[in-house]
Amino acid sequence: MKIKPEFVIIHHIGGSDAYPLADTSKFTLEQLDNEHKNRFGVISSLGYYVAYNYYILQDGTLIQTRSDDERDMDALGYNFNSTSICLQGNFDLTEPTEQQLDTLSKLVLSKCEEYSISYEDVIFHRYIANKTCPGANFTKKMLWYNIIRRASFRQLLKIIIAILKKEITLE
Ligand SMILES: [Zn+2]
Repeated sequence: MKIKPEFVIIHHIGGSDAYPLADTSKFTLEQLDNEHKNRFGVISSLGYYVAYNYYILQDGTLIQTRSDDERDMDALGYNFNSTSICLQGNFDLTEPTEQQLDTLSKLVLSKCEEYSISYEDVIFHRYIANKTCPGANFTKKMLWYNIIRRASFRQLLKIIIAILKKEITLE
């Protein structure tokens, strides 16, 4: 089943149930892959078990782990209609790095263009699940402030209109 993403969903690694404030800023791709191999066991066409489509390291490095047209396993009800991005770290403890925000902003802009995803459908995991993901210190304001700085003039106008129409809510 080929998927055309209608949503972009943003996550962080976060802590564990036992240690919600665990520092996961060095949580490697291999650790993530291993964890999801055990939890889901669904290998992607790119050879990863990671449940998300993309992983962004603290230094801004972007790794694609699933192709956009493949299912992901990140959020109930959104596994067959979204592309998902996970950031390395626990933003209940720290904040995303400048490099992560740079990579994330560019990726969100390019995915919205590629699949005609409206900006209101760029979602934080916590809006559709009872979690803090992608972390209490990562606000919508922070996300859109960074996206706006990297948007083209045409994209900027669309974003401003979406904010004025309250399609994008800034917490
Ligand atoms: Zn999440």
